[in-house]
Amino acid sequence: MYHVSYAWPLVLASLLVAVLAAYTALDLAARISTARSTQARAWWLGGGALCMGVGIWSMHFVGMLAATLPVPVAYDPGLTLLSLLIAIAASGFALYLVSGADLTRVRLGVGALGMGGGVAAMHYTGMAAMRMSPFIAYDPWLVLLSVVIAIGASGTALWIAFRLRGRTHHIVRLRAGSAGVMGMAIAGMHYTGMAAAGFPDGSLCGVLPGGWSGQGLAPLVITAAVAVLAAAIVLSMLDRRFESRSDLLQSSLSQAHGEIAFLALHDALTKLPNRLHLERRLEQAMRESRRSARACAVLFIDLDGFKAVNDAFGHQAGDRLLGLIGQCLREAMRPGDTAARIGGDEFVVVAEGVRREDADALAARLGSALRQEFEVDGHRLRISASIGIALYPEDGRSAQDLISHADAAMYRAKAGGRDAHHFFDPSMLVNAQENLQLLADLRGALARGEFRLHYQPKLDLRSGRAVGAEALLRWASPTRGNVPPDRFLDLAEQAGLIVPIGDWVLDEACRQAAAWRAAGHAHWSVAVNLSALQFDHPGLVQSVRDALRRHALPPRALVLEVTESTAMRNVEASMSILKQFEAMGVGISIDDFGTGYSSLLYLKRLPATELKVDRGFIRDVQHDADDAAIVSAIVALAQRLQLRVVAEGVETPAQQDYLKQLHCDQAQGFLFSEPVPAADFARVVARAEAHLRESDDLRAVNVA
Ligand code: C2E
Ligand code: MG
Ligand code: MG
Repeated sequence: MYHVSYAWPLVLASLLVAVLAAYTALDLAARISTARSTQARAWWLGGGALCMGVGIWSMHFVGMLAATLPVPVAYDPGLTLLSLLIAIAASGFALYLVSGADLTRVRLGVGALGMGGGVAAMHYTGMAAMRMSPFIAYDPWLVLLSVVIAIGASGTALWIAFRLRGRTHHIVRLRAGSAGVMGMAIAGMHYTGMAAAGFPDGSLCGVLPGGWSGQGLAPLVITAAVAVLAAAIVLSMLDRRFESRSDLLQSSLSQAHGEIAFLALHDALTKLPNRLHLERRLEQAMRESRRSARACAVLFIDLDGFKAVNDAFGHQAGDRLLGLIGQCLREAMRPGDTAARIGGDEFVVVAEGVRREDADALAARLGSALRQEFEVDGHRLRISASIGIALYPEDGRSAQDLISHADAAMYRAKAGGRDAHHFFDPSMLVNAQENLQLLADLRGALARGEFRLHYQPKLDLRSGRAVGAEALLRWASPTRGNVPPDRFLDLAEQAGLIVPIGDWVLDEACRQAAAWRAAGHAHWSVAVNLSALQFDHPGLVQSVRDALRRHALPPRALVLEVTESTAMRNVEASMSILKQFEAMGVGISIDDFGTGYSSLLYLKRLPATELKVDRGFIRDVQHDADDAAIVSAIVALAQRLQLRVVAEGVETPAQQDYLKQLHCDQAQGFLFSEPVPAADFARVVARAEAHLRESDDLRAVNVA
């Protein structure tokens, strides 16, 4: 047998190529399994099979070149190329197997057999390419061992490649270690196969001349193999980077998308759903309610006193308070309910599957949760909430209706003194819609000259003579007829219309009073009501002065009526205004007296000339002992303070008599006359005076 000697540098080079090939194979196996499209998969699989095949084959070929026989050797190009093709095919098969969804034992076994068999086939085909004669004498046991090694190494390689492909952690190190093991196994198979081969003495290579001779081929093959493998790794790395960058882009895009979607449906301040989101949720709750035949409730929450927080501590503090309130609502709700913020300080809660009493309890709970102290920027803030409740299905059939009906109910809670909750009832609806229309009409009413003054006589109970009139505002609306002041004065205040309207009233009343004086009623005065806002308006004193001067009316012919609560709201300010009127000589009447909380001490200091006892006390004065006691106390008090006492709302002769007994100075009421237009005033006064005379005569007769 020939002695086969090995060129160790080439052996080493073949080992390196083997390890590199293994590394490339692992890398590409992972690449194939993560490729997004089937097209990309096919490309990576084809390219991978080519690189890996070239790698394994080069290892084998360089290994062959490393062996030197005592006779010159060359290689048959056809068989050599065939061995290369076998390597590529086996690699492709292996890569295909490990890039599948899972690697069962059968698959692994078939893969190991296929790839190991392929590698062995490549090796022995490559050996055959030397076309030795006589034929190489193989040691069957070593051949078998080499095949077993090939199959074992392939199985291990497939298993490692499959396990590593999904990993990202320490992947380069893991892969390099595995590639080392795999490379050694492939090389081990090759050198075992070489050891199995015996070249009988006198053997000759049948390829010479014309075949590929060994000289100079080794560096070429090594360079080509390394180049192909390196290119494959670089390509795979670049592609991965590109892919991960586009993954990053993709994920940040979808995150941005998520944020935009969140913003579109949520309020930025409280992170609660906004109106749009609320309506969708409510519609969903209504559907659920129809399905389960259980009611659901909409609670409209408006904060009381929020504006004051904003005014006193600034918008930022207000915003922070709203954030805390959102949090508070979230905590007070039951899981599954929805809280939304739909406006400045307006929140809505949708509660599913609730009966009326549950909604009532929920509203009470939310109300008390909001009544707590909130700490904002070191300030301890206290607010409360007015809550309106609408139930589905009885209070509305659409989301919008339910919300606006709960809103109307909330208004009722506000009007009733705040910090309360109220259920919707249809009468509220009429008011809410009407108010809007009313306000629209009210804006132009003054310019269109739709206001009138009616006059109600005030009569002196002792002399039986009229002392003047109270001017009462009427709105002759072309569409709704005569609108009473109670119906529109609040709106006019809210809309900022009360000052110009009040100026008109002053002017018109003074004009009328002057006209009466000119007609011979020199002792008649006219009383004009002032609203709270008018009373606060800095131009009031000048307006009064102007009206008096314009109509040359002596100040004592004018009485200004201010309600008790208006006068007492800010006593110092009231005092300074009333003192100016006192200085001018204008009469001052405290209207609706007895309904407020005035301190008698302050009343004493106010420069008033008259007290008007609220008609609530007059109504039952002869039947209700308390009312009678109050009225007589007021009369006594007024006499001590040297104030005139006027009884409002006198409707019956019995009331009139009783008041006279109490020494009440003056009376006013339907008994004498309703408020009438100026044109009718003289006539109704004559009738009222006649009535008083008659009743006096009657009493005189009775006494007699
Ligand atoms: P007020 O100043 O207390 O006026 C008396 C109200 O009692 C009037 O109602 C009058 O019509 C009504 N009244 C008079 N006698 C009787 C009676 O015997 N029985 C009953 N039940 N009611 C009687 P009106 O005209 O509807 O005015 C309501 C309120 O509107 C007034 O209460 C006053 O506060 C306010 N108001 C009226 N005109 C003006 C105005 O020009 N400016 C301002 N700021 N307020 C006005
Ligand atoms: Mg009045
Ligand atoms: Mg009154």
